[in-house]
Amino acid sequence: MDIRKKPDLTLARKRSKTPTMTIEYDQNNEIQNLGLGKKYLIQTHGCQANEADTEILRAMIEEQKFTLTDKVEEADLILINTCAVRETAENKVFGELGRLKSLKKVNPDMILVVAGCMSQEEATIERILTKYKHVDIVLGTHNIPEFIHYLHYVMTERKQMIEVISQEGSITEHLPHARDSRFKAWVNIMYGCDEFCTYCIVPYTRGKERSRRKEYILNEVKALIEKGYQEITLLGQNVNSYGLDFEEGNYDFSDLLSDLAQTGISRIRFTTSHPKDFSDSLIDVIAKYENVMPHIHLPVQSGSDTVLKKMNRKYTKEQYLDLVHRIYEKIPNASITTDIIVGFPTETEHDFLETMDLVTKARFEGAYTFVYSPRKGTPAAMYETTVSKQEAKDRLHRLNELVNEGYLKGNMRFEGQNVKVLIEGKSKTKEDVYSGYTENNKLVNVKCSDQEIGNIVLVHITKAKTWSLDGELVRS
Ligand code: SF4
Repeated sequence: MDIRKKPDLTLARKRSKTPTMTIEYDQNNEIQNLGLGKKYLIQTHGCQANEADTEILRAMIEEQKFTLTDKVEEADLILINTCAVRETAENKVFGELGRLKSLKKVNPDMILVVAGCMSQEEATIERILTKYKHVDIVLGTHNIPEFIHYLHYVMTERKQMIEVISQEGSITEHLPHARDSRFKAWVNIMYGCDEFCTYCIVPYTRGKERSRRKEYILNEVKALIEKGYQEITLLGQNVNSYGLDFEEGNYDFSDLLSDLAQTGISRIRFTTSHPKDFSDSLIDVIAKYENVMPHIHLPVQSGSDTVLKKMNRKYTKEQYLDLVHRIYEKIPNASITTDIIVGFPTETEHDFLETMDLVTKARFEGAYTFVYSPRKGTPAAMYETTVSKQEAKDRLHRLNELVNEGYLKGNMRFEGQNVKVLIEGKSKTKEDVYSGYTENNKLVNVKCSDQEIGNIVLVHITKAKTWSLDGELVRS
């Protein structure tokens, strides 16, 4: 095993003042056709940042002439793009690596790659080195541009290797993309996170906040428009702090959003927002432009000031609710969704009831809810917990009941209305039914045809259910 660099969480926590450098992607012209006659498969876990990374890795792999397969038995290259946010996601990956061991015995030439956030954790590497020695390449989130060099090395030298950089200060531009959709695209606007919420591993796995220069983002979006893309989702761990790392410091997320809205792309979404940085000028931009979608995902995590402080979220329940009210005031049609953690160490019944109260007052139309999962290396993992597993499970159940009422109420307000829907494809359950999303990000099922896929159509909503809306196509 060639161990070039192992992750180091202490180093990953450090934030240098060095300005972000932009470098151009090395096209790897000297390495060609590694995958001629070979097949590949990628498994992606976790958030949109990982999905976007997978699109880059896929493009790099396809440039080497590998072709896609959905059967692990057929694959000559299997890449697992991992997520470190929750223990369950990590266990899934280790389970999969265990299963692939027997496949590797049958096909020793098969190359097994572990990428993504788990690679950035010291504990993962130790486990791979002791129990999963059949893994060929481990690369971190900062090493993606180098992937083809690693692959070439492993295929020609017949060695295994690990290279995980823990601190990243640069951005690589002009990376290739093999996009999953021909009408919806992820657009990274920044990388990393400097917030250090005490329960979260992301600032250690994805490095310091680095914003892409606006010229690159605008050019990427203009190219997408030319190719017929209808919708972009701007990605960042905290999009609201976009531009704060620029030395000149005079261009922020609201400026970027305003410039992107003026490109004329049909729909712009963004995720994720940190409430503490959500400015009034940003609310004004969302309210002003019709092509900035009125769906705001605004993770609150808890409604208790005591818990929020322990989480290092840097806002109070009152400040959060005040922000939500300012959003509703200027964007009355807005749908706000959120993320909530229950069972955070020391969360009392009173703290939990504060969260329930906030959920009611904020009128959320959806939420990702979780039981707290300790992440090794984070401060919260050291906190002593007073919440039993059963209590946490009960709280999650009570919270979900309330959240589900919000889903239904949010959907009900569209019954009888005509809404714009971007049709994405056939519904999974019914043959002649197609599905897509409204501007408020509501799932709609409607009878139409293949012709409508990728187009924004007008749909009359006939019935609201908890998770979706039924409608009829409005023919012009
Ligand atoms: S803002 Fe907090 S929760 Fe979100 S990625 Fe950064 S540290 Fe994690």
